[in-house]
This record gives sequence, structure tokens and C-alpha cells, in this order.
Amino acid sequence: MSSFHQFSLLSSLVKSLSEQGFTRPTDIQVRAIPPLMEGKGVVGVAETGSGKTLAYVLPMLHCLKVLETEGAPVSEPGRPRGLVLVPGRELGAQVGKVFKSLTHGTRLRVRTVLGGTKKQIARQNVAGNLEILVATPGRLLQLLDSRELRLDDVRMLIMDEADRLLDAGFLPVADRVLSSCPRGVQIGMLSATFPQTLQGLLADVYDVPPVVVRTKGSGRMLATLTTDNRALSKGARFELLREVLNETVDGGTLLFANTRRQCEAVAEWLDDEGILYGRYMGEMDRRERTRNLERFRDGELDLLLATDLGGRGIDIDRIARVVNVHLPGDVDTYLHRAGRTARAGRPGVVVNFVTHRDEGLMQKLRKREQRK
Ligand code: AMP
Repeated sequence: MSSFHQFSLLSSLVKSLSEQGFTRPTDIQVRAIPPLMEGKGVVGVAETGSGKTLAYVLPMLHCLKVLETEGAPVSEPGRPRGLVLVPGRELGAQVGKVFKSLTHGTRLRVRTVLGGTKKQIARQNVAGNLEILVATPGRLLQLLDSRELRLDDVRMLIMDEADRLLDAGFLPVADRVLSSCPRGVQIGMLSATFPQTLQGLLADVYDVPPVVVRTKGSGRMLATLTTDNRALSKGARFELLREVLNETVDGGTLLFANTRRQCEAVAEWLDDEGILYGRYMGEMDRRERTRNLERFRDGELDLLLATDLGGRGIDIDRIARVVNVHLPGDVDTYLHRAGRTARAGRPGVVVNFVTHRDEGLMQKLRKREQRK
């Protein structure tokens, strides 16, 4: 049986883990922690909810603490040694929390610079000495431009949700970050999927080919996830939604539509029906969005209506059901949405409203299942 003792991590880290009830590493942790501890470049492909955050948080804390105790403490402000790049602020906040839950033993300083927070706060966060920085691309660039932050002492760079960080929108930033880090910096990429585009970019990112680790379930559905496909007849979407929402589940429900317009239509229907819910969409007041997410997390709200922004990186254990009121066009988006439920071994269901237009997606999903 595996345990966290097998990695020769600092004992203070293993102790903090067990205090939080973590005794056995998950599959991705077993696979990714050893090569990261050895200083190798790693690409980890793991389904969402598989414990991929700790898979890099632990090696980073361990390696940077060892560096410090070996007589090389951080001595200059704004010069982190560990950098975690994330595509969105919610994911960044979660990653920051995971780090902080483990740092009282090591006393390493973890700071965040995330989009959506005041620039002044981001500046303050890097104004002092720090070991680890968790950052979203936009904010990071601003601080690099103003030279308040330097990446020339970074020893370990992690790109979480690397498939998103390396897509067309973020690619120039990722490029800039890479060129601001020292040559040969250790790079870890974590991604729920491993699309061709990402595979093609590896040679640009890594000088030496990375160790690629995949969990058995990567890119497939989680074992505790049940799929419930409902055929949708024309004009009956809201009738079906009413039927589904009347079926109670033990936990929260996340509703997805593809476009803002579709979301607005669902919102209008929920309002008309007098159903309590929160919105979680791109183009809305950020504070309200965060508040809605918190209320959903705390169980004050049982229903959250989201566009795909909500489908990424959100780690809320109490999501028992994901409803695709409108199914997405591609498999990756589907997997990301479905991965919001059935996390860390808990049961979850994904309910799909299926029309003839979704046949292409359903066929691809069936093929994936058969490959199991
Ligand atoms: P992640 O994939 O990093 O978002 O983690 C998903 C969930 O799994 C989080 O709620 C973690 O707290 C939990 N988790 C991570 N590692 C372990 C572990 N070794 N044992 C039990 N739960 C874990």
C-alpha cells in the first residue's frame, strides 16, 4: 500500500498532510512526485479531481525548503524560486490555499498575484522576500514590465491547466515567462487533457524531453461518475429541466449552457419558476461572481448556472450533479465540465440533454468509453 512516506518528503510536510487526513497519495501523485523531486521536467496528464495540485505543491515545497536549509535562503524581494502559472484567478486562489495549508512547518512564503484583485495588492504581495508565487498571466506580465518582479531565480515553474495556458490566447505570455526564467529551469505541466497542440509545443518548451506521466483514468470519465443521457424533443428543454431539477441529489447542481444567450434564457426560466440559483458567467460583476461561488460552495445555494468559465479548475467537493442543458461541441470541454463532479472518489452524475445535433459528440464519447 502506498503512503506519503515513500517519497522522502520532509517530515513536516508528511505531518501536515496527515493532519488534513491525507495519508495515501493518489495515482497522479504516485506518478508525478518522484520525477519532480528528482528535478526532471514533467508533463502530468490527469483527470480533474485526481489530486494534481498536491502532485506539484509537495515537490515544490520540499525542494525549495531543502535549498534554504542547505544555506541559500532567498535574500532579495520580488524574486521567487517557485512559480505556478494558472489561467484563472479562482484556480489561483485555490492553489494558494493548498500551499498555505502546508507551509506552517516549512515557513516558506507563498504569495499570489491574480487578475481581478487590485494592482496595488499584487504589488505589495511581491514587494517583500518570497519563495513561491502563484500567478495569472496578465497580472504577472504587468509586474514583469514594471520590474517589480524578476524570474531569474526561478528553479521550478509549474503550468497548471497547461492546455489552456498554451492555447493561442495565452501563448505569448507563457513564452515571455519561459524566456524570463533561467535556462534549464525545471518545468512541470499539468493538464486534464493532452491535445495534439500541446504535444506539438513540448519541443519548444523543454530542452530535454520531459517525463510524461498519465493516470489510468486520464482523459476518460472518473470511476465514480454516472452518465445519464436524456433524449430531448424539440421545444421541450425547460420541461426536461424541470423534471431533472425535481429529482433531488445529495449536494449541489451545476448547470451548463454554451453561450451567454443560452445562459440568459435558462436564467430567465429559473427566475420565472422562482427557483433559487446563482450565476457564474464571464461577463458579470466579478465580486458577485465570486460571492455566488462561495454561496454555492457553502451550500447556501444548491444551484449554479455557469458558462465554461465555471467548468475549469473549480474544486468544489459538494457538486453531486452536472447538467449539460446545452452540450458542448467538443470532447475536451465536455470532460472539463463533467470533471466538476465525482471528485476525490465521491459519487456524481452528469445529465446530458441530447438532441440530434449532439450525435457527433456522443459518438466520440462512446468510443472513449470502449477504449477502457
Ligand atoms: P485536485 O485534483 O488537486 O483539484 O484535488 C481534488 C480533491 O482531492 C481536493 O479536494 C483535494 O483536497 C483532494 N485530494 C488531493 N490529494 C488527496 C489525497 N492524497 N487523499 C485524499 N484526497 C486528496
